[in-house]
Amino acid sequence: MAEPVSTITGSCLCGGVRFEVTPPFVRANHCHCSRCRKHSGTAVCTQALVPREQFTLLQGAELIHVYGQSV
Ligand SMILES: [Zn+2]
Repeated sequence: MAEPVSTITGSCLCGGVRFEVTPPFVRANHCHCSRCRKHSGTAVCTQALVPREQFTLLQGAELIHVYGQSV
C-alpha cells in the first residue's frame, strides 16, 4: 500500500507560479458550472480546498491576478 502524500506541489503551465499544499483536503470536487467549463476548456474543472495555513505560495505572487467584472 502506498504511503500517504505529505506535500503536493503544483504550478501554472509556464511555471511562473508555484505552490505547495499539505493534505488533508477539506473537500475535492468536479465543478460543471459555465465559468469552470470556459476557463478549463473542458466539461469539468477539478478543485480541492485546504485551509489557508496548509497552502504556501512558493513563487510568482506578482503574476497572479484576480478575475473580476468591469464596472
Ligand atoms: Zn465552477
